[in-house]
Amino acid sequence: MEPTDTSHPDYYHRVVDCQWACPAHTDVPEYIRLIAQGRFTDAYMVNRHSNVFPGILGRVCDRPCEPACRRGRIESKPVAICRLKRVAADHREDVSARLPKIPRLKNGKRIACIGAGCASLTVANDLMPLGYEVTIFEQFGEPGGLMRTNIPSFRLPATVLNEEMGMIIDMGVDLRLNTPVKSMRELLSQGGFDAVFVGSGAPKGKELTLPGREQAAANIHIGIAWLESVAFGHIDRVGKRVLIIGVGNTAMDCCRTSLRLGAESVKVMARKPRGFFKASEWELEDAEEESVQIIVNRSPREFVLENGRLAGMRFDQVEYELDAAGQIRAERIVGEEFLAADDVILAIGQENAFPWVERDLGIEFGKWDVPVVDKTTFQSTLPQVFFGGDAAFGPKNIIWAVEHGHQAAISIHRYCQGESVHERLPPGMNLQSRKMGMHEWSYANDYTPVERRLMPHVSLKERFKKLNIEVELGFTAEQVEQEVQRQALHRMRCLHRHLPGRLSHHHTQRPGGGAAHPPQGAGEEPQPAVVRIGGAAADRPGDGEGRGPVRALRAVRRALPDRSLGHAEIRAALATCDR
Ligand SMILES: Cc1cc2nc3c(=O)[nH]c(=O)nc-3n(C[C@H](O)[C@H](O)[C@H](O)COP(=O)(O)OP(=O)(O)OC[C@H]3O[C@@H](n4cnc5c(N)ncnc54)[C@H](O)[C@@H]3O)c2cc1C
Ligand code: SF4
Repeated sequence: MEPTDTSHPDYYHRVVDCQWACPAHTDVPEYIRLIAQGRFTDAYMVNRHSNVFPGILGRVCDRPCEPACRRGRIESKPVAICRLKRVAADHREDVSARLPKIPRLKNGKRIACIGAGCASLTVANDLMPLGYEVTIFEQFGEPGGLMRTNIPSFRLPATVLNEEMGMIIDMGVDLRLNTPVKSMRELLSQGGFDAVFVGSGAPKGKELTLPGREQAAANIHIGIAWLESVAFGHIDRVGKRVLIIGVGNTAMDCCRTSLRLGAESVKVMARKPRGFFKASEWELEDAEEESVQIIVNRSPREFVLENGRLAGMRFDQVEYELDAAGQIRAERIVGEEFLAADDVILAIGQENAFPWVERDLGIEFGKWDVPVVDKTTFQSTLPQVFFGGDAAFGPKNIIWAVEHGHQAAISIHRYCQGESVHERLPPGMNLQSRKMGMHEWSYANDYTPVERRLMPHVSLKERFKKLNIEVELGFTAEQVEQEVQRQALHRMRCLHRHLPGRLSHHHTQRPGGGAAHPPQGAGEEPQPAVVRIGGAAADRPGDGEGRGPVRALRAVRRALPDRSLGHAEIRAALATCDR
């Protein structure tokens, strides 16, 4: 066993596992503490600082933090970290006055971002407050990337998406919609940009080349392109019997969308047993709740046609032999099955595609025809070109794309200032007591055996009436209080570890501890520069203000049991309490 080295930040990862597991290192214990105190707006801002899109992520984050939650060591379900984020977003007040200020006087550097997905938007969010002029080129008529075109509105409402993207675009980003970048050479030679960020995603859905594919093409769809057509209103119906091939998260969105477009029987076809599914457990649960059938151990063999039209698919039935570790040791075909279908949707993966990047520019591409990108700096082999999000290393998720955007923004800033992109601050840490009693006693410190709160859903009868009815309703005040109490176990031992490496109007760090001031516009208040290592508390919401609100929250709970509270109701109830 390695001796404990408290001087190394990695030691603290083991203490605040959830924060470390979040790619953007969201300060989970802190924001849950603020929610417990009823300080929803502060909790929102703590989130926004690292993950930029709390309302979006509170609904659809892939939640890599939750398997790391310490609560998971004593019972099966972790704290509902993700859904608590949504609580902060749902009940916050207007945050416009707390967003980074944008200097009127620019720093003379122009940055191009290709694609208006979450990666590019994060780059803009981090660079605009430093005086950069950021132009985003987007091929479609609306920004948002896959968050808009592929994540269905019954999981992520357009209002939430628009509001959080608006916070960035309204910083003064030059957003050029319906403007696909068709040639990187042209952009580099004629654009007049100091650096380029490629956040164009992984837009190519994988094909399934089997007999009958071409002849039945009219009723065989590539999942991500099909969802995009649904999002833009080009497709508004589907056949009665639908087969979805693949069992990842895209498949889950395809099957649930099919039900909303009129399908009566939807089957998701999986080649392997359940333990090998790529879809998140909660997405599987939601699909199965809606009567989607998931059929395992079926390997597609051919598309079957009748009178020149798709009639269904034939599958091999496969049997697997697993070893003691649960890994597949052998597989054999034990039969075949035909399933009738009016439409088949292929959801077997997606890939990067850069037909618009000429291969003689100095941007090296690797053996899978993906760009060679530095994993720390996100710089390509052409120094002024950076990649991030799905475009960098293939499809992942929103929170990874956000973190890529943060890191690329640091690199772009250093590159534009003539500094080495490789010299980055090491992770820093800042210890804050989370003991209770004399400090900021807001919780009972014993173990609370309550189980994880179930997220209330719109009834099965209601949710299919329209495509954009959001299924999850958000936690009630009662559920919030119980869920935050579940955090007690690790809260008692939480140490806060602050990772530097965020560019914002008051967090521009340089090796050696110096801090860069953004240029100030005429008549603007100078922005403070804060170096985080050892002193990160400076920009955090003040401590010790929250005991009243936690009492208030409890009072809300007592006064209004079993009710789903809206923002206004919560505020009104809080106002009546003794703060
Ligand atoms: C069906 C589906 C469901 C998903 N669900 C979730 C989920 O629930 N939670 C989660 O965390 N992640 C989910 N993901 C993954 C997540 O959406 C992506 O990882 C994330 O959006 C990647 O962000 P990005 O900014 O890198 O790229 P994208 O979101 O793909 O954005 C890229 C943008 O670039 C534009 N573009 C591309 N080429 C050009 C060009 N040449 N010129 C101009 N513009 C261009 C595109 O139009 C697009 O707007 C899902 C993905 C899919 C396919
Ligand atoms: S952004 Fe996602 S991974 Fe990070 S703390 Fe929130 S839910 Fe967890």
